[in-house]
Amino acid sequence: ATPTSIMVGTGKAAENGILFKGGEHLERTHELNAIVLDKTGTITKGKPEVTNFTGDEETLQLLASAEKGSEHPLAEAIVGYATEKNIDLVEVDDFVAIPGNGIEVKVSSSHILVGNRKLLQNHQVDIGGAEQELIDYEIEGKTAMLIAIEGQYRGIVAVADTIKETAPQAIRELKEEGLEVIMLTGDNERTAQAIAKQVGIDQVIAQVLPEEKAGKVKEIQDKGKKVAMVGDGVNDAPALAIADIGIAIGTGTEVAIEAADVTILGGELLLIPKAIKISHATIKNIR
Ligand code: ADP
Ligand code: MG
Repeated sequence: ATPTSIMVGTGKAAENGILFKGGEHLERTHELNAIVLDKTGTITKGKPEVTNFTGDEETLQLLASAEKGSEHPLAEAIVGYATEKNIDLVEVDDFVAIPGNGIEVKVSSSHILVGNRKLLQNHQVDIGGAEQELIDYEIEGKTAMLIAIEGQYRGIVAVADTIKETAPQAIRELKEEGLEVIMLTGDNERTAQAIAKQVGIDQVIAQVLPEEKAGKVKEIQDKGKKVAMVGDGVNDAPALAIADIGIAIGTGTEVAIEAADVTILGGELLLIPKAIKISHATIKNIR
């Protein structure tokens, strides 16, 4: 490999908004045969909005007050929804985030849980007939969260995030380049499958806790694959670091960009197959 041709390749990539941290990453990109993509903020826009809320006004007030303390995009959506409905938020006494599952909060001396099935199950909350409503939202690709107050089920809030317009084409091109494409998410299996279907991904690894993401990438590597990981979040950083090539979404967190080998500007997914094509063109010219 001549250093000059590598420089030409990374230069061409940079012109297109693909920033390689070094020439060796361009060479390794040429060898990839699998790619793992995070769902929220990578495949989807990461700007979820509340589409459904079942519950009374007090529940909405406590729900939004509880979520005020969370930095999660889901929390932002819920707080925005309550604000639009002119709900006054109240002070939170104690806030605990349970990564990958939800939040546990004390508001107005009430104990509030907001999160997935597992969170409510862990606290022995009976959700009764809400299970079917939950499933209905999940089939539509929505993320539905359950609310319990003082150990009693009180309502459900569903949030939808839209896929990036160019995601289906980007996935198609990645497959055409011979890559196995896999979606990785902390969200539940049904929601993940619905989003995967919209973009043409048939392999999904769902309900993965933030600290388990890197291990999932490692498992694919252990099968003999050269794996790229694409992500935007703080949660994705260890997986970006362990992957053969870590690709950060330019609109994502600084932590993800630092952990990655490549950054794609503006979060445009079409730049990923583009990077692979540039790597092939560059390395072929060398050998
Ligand atoms: P993702 O990979 O989509 O970013 P996370 O691992 O952050 O997912 O979260 C997984 C699940 O945990 C969410 O789908 C949601 O059910 C629950 N969850 C996480 N954060 C919150 C929150 N602030 N409020 C309610 N539920 C939450
Ligand atoms: Mg994400």
